[in-house]
Amino acid sequence: MDTIHLRTPPFEWTCGHCGQTLKVDAEHYHSGFRHIAVEPGELGDTALVHSAICCPNSKCRKLTLAIRLAEYKSSLGHAYPIGTAGEEIENWILMPAGQTDRSVKKDAKSD
Ligand SMILES: [Zn+2]
Repeated sequence: MDTIHLRTPPFEWTCGHCGQTLKVDAEHYHSGFRHIAVEPGELGDTALVHSAICCPNSKCRKLTLAIRLAEYKSSLGHAYPIGTAGEEIENWILMPAGQTDRSVKKDAKSD
């Protein structure tokens, strides 16, 4: 399964609820991230990436919801910091339950 995080619609995507492969447009997609503003711990500076798709299939319309914990990198020099979410640390698909989003780990061992 392709990652659903920080994509630019439209893109092709297979719904984990109904199994249909569909084109997801901006009206059916949301993704963003927030810096986790705590003192950096053993993982360093981190951000929480969140993404959601409402299935465009009119007979499904179920929500897919996923989050990713990622390294956080900020670039200063603007009026306020602009952050980009870096390397993935962990990811979870919350809805539908029991699925994973592995494609972002390009060097992960295949299984
Ligand atoms: Zn669906």
